[in-house]
Order: sequence, then C-alpha cells, then structure tokens
Amino acid sequence: METKLKIALQKSGRLYDDSVKILKECGIELQNGMNKLLNEAMNFPMQILFLRDDDIPQYVEDGVADIGIVGENIVYETNKNVELVEELGFGKCRLSVAVPRNENYADAQFLNGKRIATTYPFLLQNFLDKHNIKAEIHEISGSVEITPGVGLADAICDLVSSGSTLFSNGLKETEVILNSQAALIGNKNLSPEKQLLLKKLLFRIQAVKKAKKNKYILLNAPNNKLDVICSLIPGMKSPTILPLGIEGWSSLHSVVQEDDFWNIIESLKDNGAEGILIIPIEKMVL
Ligand code: ATP
Ligand code: MG
Repeated sequence: METKLKIALQKSGRLYDDSVKILKECGIELQNGMNKLLNEAMNFPMQILFLRDDDIPQYVEDGVADIGIVGENIVYETNKNVELVEELGFGKCRLSVAVPRNENYADAQFLNGKRIATTYPFLLQNFLDKHNIKAEIHEISGSVEITPGVGLADAICDLVSSGSTLFSNGLKETEVILNSQAALIGNKNLSPEKQLLLKKLLFRIQAVKKAKKNKYILLNAPNNKLDVICSLIPGMKSPTILPLGIEGWSSLHSVVQEDDFWNIIESLKDNGAEGILIIPIEKMVL
C-alpha cells in the first residue's frame, strides 16, 4: 500500500484559508465534495485531517497526524513534543498583555498581585516567572478582552494583530510575550518513507515562500548604462540582456527582493531605465 503523509489543518477559522492555499500553491489539490473532516489529495500522497487548532499538536505528537499547520502560539502553549519544521509566513500575531487604557503602567511589576485573564495560562505563567511576578491567572476559554470591563480581571493576556479589538475594549497593549505565525510541525518519529514525503513537501513550500519574497523585473535600458543597471539588479546569477528593436537599447530581465524594490526602482530610473515592469513569481527554485 502506498504511504501517505497525514497532515492536520484547522477545520475552520483564521488559518483555514491560508493553510489550504499554501497546499494549493505547492501544487497539491484537494478533492471536492469529500467529507469535511477528512480529505485526500488528488495528486500527492497526502491525507488531510481537519481539526480544532488546539488539538493539532497533540495529534501530531501521537502520530495520528504526521504533520500539521498551526499557530506557534498553540505549539508553545500546548508544549507538546513535536518538531517545528518551518514557519509559513501567515497567521501573524503576537501574544500580549493589555491593561485598561487609563492605568498607569510603568513596567511588568504592575502585574504583581493582579488578576490576569487568558486562554494562554502556560505561556503567561512562564512570562510571570521570568519577571518574578506573582499574579493570579484566570484561565477562560474566550472573549478575554471583555473581562477587565466587567470587573473579572485587572489585565489580560491575549492574541493581538491590529490592536483594534483592544482599542474598542478600552485596553492598551503593554507587553509582547510572543511573536507568532503559522508553522508546519511534524511528528518526531516519522518513518523514512514519510520523511521523504515531508522533504518533498518542504522543498515545494520553500520554493513558494522564496517566490513570495521576490519579484520578476523587466525594463528597457540604454546600452551605455547596462553595467550600472546590472549591478543594481544582479538577480540570481546575472540579469538576462536582450537587444531591443531600437539601436542602443536593451531589455533586462532579473529578480529583485520585494523588500527593497522601491529603492532600486528609484536608482534604476535615475540611470535611464524605462518601461519597468514588476511581475509576481509563482515558484522559485535556486
Ligand atoms: P478553533 O475553532 O480551531 O479552536 P480558534 O477560535 O481557537 O479556532 P482562530 O481565532 O481561528 O482560533 O485563530 C487561529 C490562529 O490564528 C491563532 O491561534 C493564531 O495563531 C492566529 N491568529 C492570527 N491573528 C490573530 C488574531 N488577531 N487573533 C487571534 N488569532 C490570530
Ligand atoms: Mg482554538
């Protein structure tokens, strides 16, 4: 029987769309109309289990799933014995402490003797221990942000991304305990066959991640400026240079990092580059 890699994904919620999308970008297509809890890839030896995100590390530790996609916040909070294989670049958020906006918060010692509501008791306790703070942790399962307003807590420890939920509940963020994003985790005792499948998947994920960080750039340049322009966009090995139909001009093709392409574009224009096109890259293998 063919070995299949079992991956656990969040059944619904913030990570669902991006988790399915990254598989798709890796060329892995799920079957339509299958049962909502278990799916099978059409073109990769993979089964997909859909679970509550909190349960994913346990399933991966037990080997019920071989790998999973889950927020690092959940990985560290559940503290299961799993391998953190690769960060995936989506689901970014931070686990933070917040207090009512009108409080005079100087530093973490403010939290001494206070009641803090959270769904992350383990990570919060670690933070408090590290800072020698004695506080009362109130573990609740949701709507943490309303607890100070109704007098159930003096502070909260919760996930934040934009901060708008904190703001609309009259809270201010005072400490960041953990920066988190979605990650691929794996069981620590995968069979050699499964390790090979994971390696294949990881190779594809890394190609997709690299492509997202880079753009394909095309431009026209006067031949007497080719040297400068090539040094600005060196690309993977060197830019491709093709003659244009007009005497004295060439077309350059290369790859630039998303992070600094605006700076590069300025210098390119200063050196006579024209007709600059920036195009997304789908996969990138170095
Ligand atoms: P489940 O029903 O699977 O238990 P959930 O309600 O616990 O879902 P979601 O709210 O869907 O979880 O969040 C899933 C993950 O998305 C979080 O664990 C975190 O890693 C990430 N995330 C990113 N931004 C935020 C945010 N602003 N608030 C909460 N989670 C966020
Ligand atoms: Mg959950």
